[in-house]
Amino acid sequence: MTSGPVRYLVVPTANAADDARSARFGEKTILWVPAGQRLGRASRTVPGLLLVTQVGRSFQDEYPDVTPLLDRGRHLVISSADRPRRRSNHCWRIDTLRPGTTIVDNPVVTSARVDPTISGLVADVSASSYQSDLTWLASLPTRHSLSTTFTQAMDFAADRMIALGYQTSRTPVTVGAGQSANLIGDRTGAGSDRGLVIVTAHLDSINLTGGPAAAAPGADDNGSGSAGVLELGRLLTTRLWKNDIRLILFGGEEEGLFGSKQYVATLPPAERARVRAVLNMDMIATRNTATPTVLLEGAPVSSPQMSALATAAATYTGLKVETSLNPFASDHVPFITAGMPAVLTIEGADSANGHIHSANDTLNFIDWSLAAEILRMNVAALAGWLEPVTARRPQPAGSVVSWGPGRLDVFTVGMDSALRHKAYDGTWHDFESLGGVVLS
Ligand SMILES: [Zn+2]
Repeated sequence: MTSGPVRYLVVPTANAADDARSARFGEKTILWVPAGQRLGRASRTVPGLLLVTQVGRSFQDEYPDVTPLLDRGRHLVISSADRPRRRSNHCWRIDTLRPGTTIVDNPVVTSARVDPTISGLVADVSASSYQSDLTWLASLPTRHSLSTTFTQAMDFAADRMIALGYQTSRTPVTVGAGQSANLIGDRTGAGSDRGLVIVTAHLDSINLTGGPAAAAPGADDNGSGSAGVLELGRLLTTRLWKNDIRLILFGGEEEGLFGSKQYVATLPPAERARVRAVLNMDMIATRNTATPTVLLEGAPVSSPQMSALATAAATYTGLKVETSLNPFASDHVPFITAGMPAVLTIEGADSANGHIHSANDTLNFIDWSLAAEILRMNVAALAGWLEPVTARRPQPAGSVVSWGPGRLDVFTVGMDSALRHKAYDGTWHDFESLGGVVLS
C-alpha cells in the first residue's frame, strides 16, 4: 500500500485483529490503516509499506541505512520512504505489501499413518554417503559457474549418477559471455503411463565480493543441496517406482538462475505436462534456529506438494515447518513461472546464515543432522509422488488336467509358485518324489 501514508503496528499473530489491513509473517503480523485512522497507541505513521524478499541479508548489506519496520530474515517490511531506486536484482526484490496476505505461515500439521515402505526408505538416509559427497564438493576452491573446478564438480556428480544407473546428459548454459552447464540424470519408472518427478539443486557457488577467482567453497550454498540430490538419487534406486525420476544439477544459478531458466525454456509441453513435482534444495544444512526448521517455499500451483512435504515432516521427522507462497531467487522459480508444481526446501531462517556467498561458507558451519532431517522429509514426499511398485504376490493358478489312454496328469501351482505334477497310471505318482522321471 504505497498510495498514501499509513499507520502501522507489528503484533504477535495470536493477537492480530481481523478488522485492520494485515499481512502475516509467521508469529508476527503487521497491521495497517490509513494515517487518519486509529490503530493502537504504539502505532507509527509512514508513507507506505513495501515487502522485501532477500537472499541471505543481501538487501540489508546493500542498504544498511534502511531500518526494516518488520524483520523476519528472508522477508522484511520497509517504509516506501526508504525505497531504493532499484526494484530488484537477483538477490533481493521489492513488492507492494498486499493486505490480507500470509507471507510466511507456521501451519499446524498433523502426521499421517506411518507407511512401512516409506519409513524403511526414510531409515535408509545415509549420513556418511551424504557427508562424503558434500565434503568432496566443498573441498574444491570454487564451483563458480565458469570455472574449471565447476566442470570437475560436474564430472564427479555425473560419475556418481552413472554408477547409480542414471542415464546422464549435459546441456550448455549461457552465462553472460561465458558458458556453464546443467547435468541431468534420468531413470525410467516401471509404470506404463508415467509421470515425471524432478529433484534439483544448483551446483555452482560464488564469492560476491572476491570475484570469480576468489575462494567459494559453497558448503551450504549449495554443496548441501547438490549432495542432497545425489543422496536422494541413491536412495530412490533402492526401490521400484511407477513414475520417472529426473535429477538436475544446475549451473549459472548465482548469476541469475540461468541454468534453470534455460532448462525450463527448452522443456517441451508434453514433458511439462508429465511433471508431478519439482523438488528444489538450496541451503539445507545450516541450523539457524533453536528448533530444527525447514521453510517450504512455493506458489498456489505447488500447494498440494507443499502439504505433502509438511505431512512428511510431521510423520517422519522432528522438523518444524514454515511455508511461504512468495517464491524467490532459486531454481524453483522458473518452473513455477511456467506453471509447474515446484517447491524449494531451505533451512529455516536462512537469512541468519551470514557465511554464504563468501570464503566462509565452509564445512565448519554444516549441521549434518538438520540436512539428514530435511532429506528424510524429502524422500518420504518423493515416494508419494513416484508411487512405489509393490511386487504382486503370485496367485495360484487353477489345476491343469490332461489324460490319455491309461493315464491322467494333474499340474498345479502352489502358493510358493512352485509347479507340482501328479500322475495316475493305476497308482498315483508324485512327480517330485519320482525325481522328475517322465511316465511312459
Ligand atoms: Zn543458493
